[in-house]
Amino acid sequence: MSAAARVIRGRVLSFTDDPSLGGSRAYSLVDDGAVLVAGGLIEAVGEARDILARAPGGAVIDDHAGSFIMPGFIDAHVHYPQTQVIGSYGAQLLDWLNTYTFVEEQKFADPAHCARVASFFLDELICTGTTTAMVYCTVHPQSVDAFFGAAEKRAMRMIAGKVMMDRDTPERLKDDAQRGYDESKALITRWRGRGRLDYAITPRFAVTSTMAQLEAAGALAREFPQLYVQTHANENKAEIARVAALFPKAESYIDVYARAGLLGPRSVLGHCIHLQASEVALLAESRSVAAFCPTSNLFLGSGLFDQARLRRAGVRIALATDVGGGTSYSMLRTAAEGYKVLQLNGQSWPALEAFYRMTLGNARALSLDGRIGSIEAGKEADLVALDPRATPALAHRMETAGGDLQVELFALMMLGDDRAVRETYVAGEPRKGAAA
Ligand SMILES: [Zn+2]
Repeated sequence: MSAAARVIRGRVLSFTDDPSLGGSRAYSLVDDGAVLVAGGLIEAVGEARDILARAPGGAVIDDHAGSFIMPGFIDAHVHYPQTQVIGSYGAQLLDWLNTYTFVEEQKFADPAHCARVASFFLDELICTGTTTAMVYCTVHPQSVDAFFGAAEKRAMRMIAGKVMMDRDTPERLKDDAQRGYDESKALITRWRGRGRLDYAITPRFAVTSTMAQLEAAGALAREFPQLYVQTHANENKAEIARVAALFPKAESYIDVYARAGLLGPRSVLGHCIHLQASEVALLAESRSVAAFCPTSNLFLGSGLFDQARLRRAGVRIALATDVGGGTSYSMLRTAAEGYKVLQLNGQSWPALEAFYRMTLGNARALSLDGRIGSIEAGKEADLVALDPRATPALAHRMETAGGDLQVELFALMMLGDDRAVRETYVAGEPRKGAAA
């Protein structure tokens, strides 16, 4: 990468640790700060006067004074083929899949449709400040090729994979155990480690895969231990009953995945709402990640994620939109709904913890914290500039924030959306203008 040097000036906020662990100070804030980026990486961060003094002549200066400069947001679970079924009325999970999603996903047999939707989706993420996501494609290999092609064109760090389904779905969305394995492997060979791309083995969930297919996915995970695994679990009570009927030998839903060899530190399981104690223990022991998808869980009436219980058990947690079961691409909107879900469970979620989760917390959950998620020299320059006074309602609210960081961040999270995103930098380059 040979992009020109750039100085991005604003209130630089970055986490150094998980604020919920109660350490002394889990973040750094430089009110008149700046980040020097070049060649796609962060070269330096600090007081604006120091950074401006060391910036090379000819460096571009982007002045976002008054706005927060944070690491780009990370979405740990999202479906790019669902951008035209988001906001579809009146169904819970299994009906929602059959009525809307499985109809929509058949369109992705057409590579031109894949390319159009992938571009829309990635541009929408950029507009909301999200720079990395872990993404479901469809059963069609061409849906993965189109997605990675669009991500590569935008230099975005993305994880994605071909959905594997061999039952309980329309014929045109079915592969089989061997074909799912072979097509996934060919995609891994083609895309894995190319630019900023990585692959996730993606059996959709235990309802739509036979044990033979789940075992084939597990075999791939053993062959490629550095790859990710993504799937869904324990989202909805009818779904859980269906899994129990389909896998009578398994002790639980999570045990189905354990038997197939699909749990582990690079496995991200969407939802994890209705868990037995033994399932919580399996997630914790295997270091698997539970992805909290609040707008989806509310929209589909699935249930309330119990963050406190999972934390006590030591389960790793991520935050995710789950578009199109989720109703917003924005991680700010997602965190706001997450707060409300936790409230309904009698739990709290300070803004610092939520912003940690959208940035460094999700980077850690995806084992990407060596590259992204914080603003430090040597990290990749994925950044978002967030204006806490972007709308009249935000500006009006901030008049009474008294300069208190936690008050400002909480109001920004509750009232903010893509309008608060002044700019999104991907590998050091401003991308919002082109994406909007
Ligand atoms: Zn999902």
